[in-house]
Amino acid sequence: MLEAVNRILNQATPATRCLITVAILVPFYVLYFATQAWALGDADIRAVIRPGVMMAMQILVVAVTLMTLAVGIWCWPLRRSPLPVPHLYTFLACASTLLYTGEAIMQGNLTSPANMVIIGNVVIGLMLLDQRAVLLAFIQAVVTLVLNDVLVLLEIVPYAPMLTPAAFNQGEPQEWFSIWRNMVLIFGLAGTCFFGILLFNQFESQRAALRRLSYTDVLTGLANRRFFMERLQAETRRAECMQRPFCLVLLDVDHFKQVNDRFGHPVGDDVLRVIAATMKTSMRCPTDLPARVGGEEFAILLADTDLNGAQVACERLASCLREQKFGARECVFRVTVSMGVVECRCESIEDALRLVDMNLYQAKAAGRNRIVASLSPQAASNERICTLA
Ligand code: GH3
Ligand code: MG
Ligand code: MG
Repeated sequence: MLEAVNRILNQATPATRCLITVAILVPFYVLYFATQAWALGDADIRAVIRPGVMMAMQILVVAVTLMTLAVGIWCWPLRRSPLPVPHLYTFLACASTLLYTGEAIMQGNLTSPANMVIIGNVVIGLMLLDQRAVLLAFIQAVVTLVLNDVLVLLEIVPYAPMLTPAAFNQGEPQEWFSIWRNMVLIFGLAGTCFFGILLFNQFESQRAALRRLSYTDVLTGLANRRFFMERLQAETRRAECMQRPFCLVLLDVDHFKQVNDRFGHPVGDDVLRVIAATMKTSMRCPTDLPARVGGEEFAILLADTDLNGAQVACERLASCLREQKFGARECVFRVTVSMGVVECRCESIEDALRLVDMNLYQAKAAGRNRIVASLSPQAASNERICTLA
């Protein structure tokens, strides 16, 4: 369910986010209005409240509700538009804050649970609106509440002007008021917890998406150079601990500049995408890691693989690529690739990269469209030891 909510929120346009906010806020406002109307109608409660103040609050509730509904009506035709609506975000956040802080002040800042609702407001706001709107609304709430507290302390304004002294029993609210306070507190807490979990889930999935993006090559969808280097580092350590070999492959498209020059850059991009897709399908994922490490340069990390295994995998890939046709009907063309391969054992990353680069250079120098593979000095000495044994 959390995932479904996240998906809806991630796909929601700014105006749709406003509509969802309106749909959450308006029922609360209506409930609030109805509760106060009921309180005004009850003779016992009427005896301990100041009806004039409560009616003024009712007018505020109606005004804020109508304005919030107006935002909803305004947003409805914009619901598919990707355009940002920061002023509407700010309006919704500040209008609801005005209502809840007003309520807190009128019922007594310390004896009513409206502060709890203000915290819930921040959580819902962060989930649906933007940080700027929520920050402005939060500052508004803090300034209003602190200012009111100072004025109460200076005895310039009364504490809880909506209530008469009879509402308090030796400083504590009457039983009915405590019930109302606890109800708001419990519902507010439950709501805040629910929306808080949704919010954290949203943060978590955004963090995961960012992490994925930071490790992915935009053009091909393969791992990028950063991710490849991190995995190479980890694999180097693992291979050293386990005394296992691994192979490193560097693949470069032959005469790729000519592809761009003859067919255009977008066709060149398509070629890179197809090469990447072929690498993905012909490798033993997830143990083998293909990555795009430069413009038309790819690398593959073959964990737990010796040189023979790597050569087989590279031959298979090269022949798949040789058979691959590119371009449109009238100008079909093929590309070839050159590869350098090295089997490593306990090499430093720098040495492994230097060796594989040398092999690729040799493949290019020898006429391209070929694979040059070798054992690293460490792997070669290990091979000698094994052969002697
Ligand atoms: P060689 O066989 O020696 O590797 O020759 P080459 O033409 O492949 O190598 P060179 O380094 O001369 O040219 C590489 C070309 O790759 C030049 C550059 O425009 C192109 N290239 C690099 N990144 C991209 C990309 O993301 N998309 C496209 N379409 N081309 C790219
Ligand atoms: Mg090239
Ligand atoms: Mg190159």
